[in-house]
Amino acid sequence: MSAAATLAAVPSVAKARRLVIKLGSALVVDPDAAATRTGWLDEVAEDIAALQRTGVEIIVVSSGAIALARRTLNLTQPRLRLEEKQAAAAVGQIRLAQAWSEALSAHGLTAAQLLLTMEDTEDRRRYLNARATLTTLLGLGCVPVINENDTVATAEIRFGDNDRLAARVAEMVQADQLVLFSDIDGLYTADPRRDPAAQHIPIVAGMTTEIDAMGGEPPPGYSSGGMRTKLVAARIATGAGCAMAIALGHRPHPVRALVEGARCTWFMPTIDGRSARKRWIAGSLSPLGTVTVDAGAARALAGGRSLLPAGVAGVAGEFSRGDAVRVQGPGGLEVARGLSAYNSEDARRIMGHRSEEIEAILGWRGRDELIHRDDLVLV
Ligand code: GLU
Repeated sequence: MSAAATLAAVPSVAKARRLVIKLGSALVVDPDAAATRTGWLDEVAEDIAALQRTGVEIIVVSSGAIALARRTLNLTQPRLRLEEKQAAAAVGQIRLAQAWSEALSAHGLTAAQLLLTMEDTEDRRRYLNARATLTTLLGLGCVPVINENDTVATAEIRFGDNDRLAARVAEMVQADQLVLFSDIDGLYTADPRRDPAAQHIPIVAGMTTEIDAMGGEPPPGYSSGGMRTKLVAARIATGAGCAMAIALGHRPHPVRALVEGARCTWFMPTIDGRSARKRWIAGSLSPLGTVTVDAGAARALAGGRSLLPAGVAGVAGEFSRGDAVRVQGPGGLEVARGLSAYNSEDARRIMGHRSEEIEAILGWRGRDELIHRDDLVLV
């Protein structure tokens, strides 16, 4: 790729469609005051409001619950046990959510709190529910503010750092950009605090073992992230078709600064988001049922359309909403695979019916499609 082509491809936050921004504890919390950095949060909220007005959907992933409660609970030793972290999170999260709610509402925005665990991003049903809630909130103009549900996440199922959580969230909502605000303005060839010859890397075209090696050791002190978890996040995000940036958060109006071209490191997506999702549907999920469609529906699917209940002639197997199912044509040949928007029982009840009849049959209004085309891959 020529230098010009590389430059042209650099993402711009101002052009994001759906943007996830992650802010670490070291930014959000002033450890001396054991309080949030109110003035700085207000600037971030102002930046978010300005960007949202231009049509960008924004989700915040904010750390800081544990750091906020340490002093109150007298837990000031550098390393906390898991139970102590959970207790601190239980106390601090109230304050963190309140700080965000106040900061955002001062700029006319409504904050919505979501506490997620790793399971919520991996179990299909919970994943779909979390995704549906997030997209509904965005549709309502709210700013979701997410943290890990530290109080219930045990060691084995804990992210432990919000870098990876933010990347999973970006993947889940098919964000096109993720920005990890940090105490450093990007990735360097070596740790610039120790090595004066370290060079800033503006663009990482693809994750390699060489790039992974630049992660180094996790930093001491309160924060659990460091460069290593950011690079893991980069693998998750870019593999899901989302561009990711590491940018400096320790400055006034950090989001605006980025919009105005502040230096950062961009990790380029390896594939576009849609194909990442389709690959996941086609390859990683074992179908739990089979949906037989009529010839008309099979033709519609081949033409890139969604599968409507009206075109379904049979439903076999037991599956839940969000499970993968095989779609076969009238001759019994598999034509597609997708995620069902209804469980097998409801699918049987609505098959052969027009979508307008779904509410009368089930007593609630679900999706018009049995399998939406975004959740469908032809085989
Ligand atoms: N969830 C933790 C908190 O809010 C922070 C995890 C991290 O440091 O990324 O305190």
